[in-house]
Amino acid sequence: MLFERQTFLVAGLSRSGIAAAEFLLQRGAGVYLYDDVEDSNVLAAEGRLTSLGAVAVAKNELEEKSERCDILVLSPGIPVDHPLPVSFRRAGKRIIGESELGALSLRCPVIAVTGTNGKTTTVSMIESIFKGAGKNAIACGNVGRPITSCVEELGEDGIAVAEISSFQLETLSSLRPHVAVVLNVTEDHLNRHYTVENYVYLKSRILKNSNESEYAVLNYDDPTSRTFAEKTKAKVVWFSLKEKVSGGYLSDGFFCYQGEKIFPAEELSVDGDHNRSNALAAICAAKLFGVGNAYITAALKNFRGVRHRLQKIGELNGISFLDDSKATNVDSAVKAVASVKGESVILLGGKDKGYSYEPLFDAIKNSGVVHAVIYGENAFRILNAALKRGYTSVTLCRPFDMAVRVAYLTAKRGQNVLLSPASASFDAFRSYEERGERFAELLEEFREEAERAAREEVAVGGEAVESE
Ligand code: ADP
Repeated sequence: MLFERQTFLVAGLSRSGIAAAEFLLQRGAGVYLYDDVEDSNVLAAEGRLTSLGAVAVAKNELEEKSERCDILVLSPGIPVDHPLPVSFRRAGKRIIGESELGALSLRCPVIAVTGTNGKTTTVSMIESIFKGAGKNAIACGNVGRPITSCVEELGEDGIAVAEISSFQLETLSSLRPHVAVVLNVTEDHLNRHYTVENYVYLKSRILKNSNESEYAVLNYDDPTSRTFAEKTKAKVVWFSLKEKVSGGYLSDGFFCYQGEKIFPAEELSVDGDHNRSNALAAICAAKLFGVGNAYITAALKNFRGVRHRLQKIGELNGISFLDDSKATNVDSAVKAVASVKGESVILLGGKDKGYSYEPLFDAIKNSGVVHAVIYGENAFRILNAALKRGYTSVTLCRPFDMAVRVAYLTAKRGQNVLLSPASASFDAFRSYEERGERFAELLEEFREEAERAAREEVAVGGEAVESE
């Protein structure tokens, strides 16, 4: 793509928008900047980028300035039916995302990972395997580091391990990964993509440019990912927890790849079938690049997990606090209740994304969950689903802080308080990270209260002795 002499409008100044603007300015493009929100973060980014030569656009000048731009770089946070992309489309102009700029510019091989759940975990597993093997691999894309910011560091010899979300796939057309991994496709983001069919179609776009020279690593256990095999020209490598497929599978308690035992599955550092499935996907990707079993084994045995993904963050009065704030849809919460050991009080709720919560209560009824504390904007929709499925061990409690306290007070010694909300966080927080951090802060507040109460008890006891 020609950057010089082209004018880009970068819309949405979050991490990827800022990276796209920097990338374009470095390459001599004309760059206009726009964000619907004008908070301190956006203003700071605009200040920095305008000093590098970009032009900030106010809402009232948007129409006029848009006419001067050739290409719209759309943040994944802005839907493609927002008036701005609609106006570009009407004018016949190109709309791309930051990841498309990355795909057009990367000179190294790419492993791209998509799926409804497990992307960040799998990308992190793959990155640690390759790094352990001495390769210049960088986890990038939706995982945090924008792809454009890695282009030079990766050069020709690196390996881009790119997490690709359905939001990114809306504006990504040039990516041709050497290995494309599809982990699973379950209901999510229907508030953005409207129909399941559209969501599935977007996920399948990760394979759209692959041909016989590339690989598709697909989950044999997931009915939707399985159908992608029929649509791609890429060579298919399967992974499965249940069947001895051509690819990665479990046999005699070992992770195996094409007849070769790699290491015992119980030695994987993270729990749950979903993580064993992610590990198999990572093993397939690594084997397709010829990584030795010793590196794969070492990386996956020592994999630390990723923050806010089903992590034990502490214990108080014999009650364990588990942070799975990233469980922002039903399937991820289903996986949490299936894999958490022992009994739990679960915290459910947040911002609705338009799907049914009923399957979650089917899973809860067959799990160690003993009670659900339901909170947040979608509390009544979740409660309704619980009652429809005959699950009545619930407390409705709107504010998050109160809900966490109620969950803690409900849990008994030996049980868990499990934050696996099956909902987005945006009703009350800026992100799932902020929600997870608040959960951890509340645990510390409860701990201080408990310590204070214990001190007061000792003091009261002391007085009582004196007064006798
Ligand atoms: P993503 O990047 O796709 O959102 P993460 O690795 O961040 O995936 O995990 C998001 C949530 O999904 C967490 O709650 C995690 O425990 C759960 N999860 C991880 N892997 C899987 C999987 N393969 N299937 C279902 N849920 C998963």
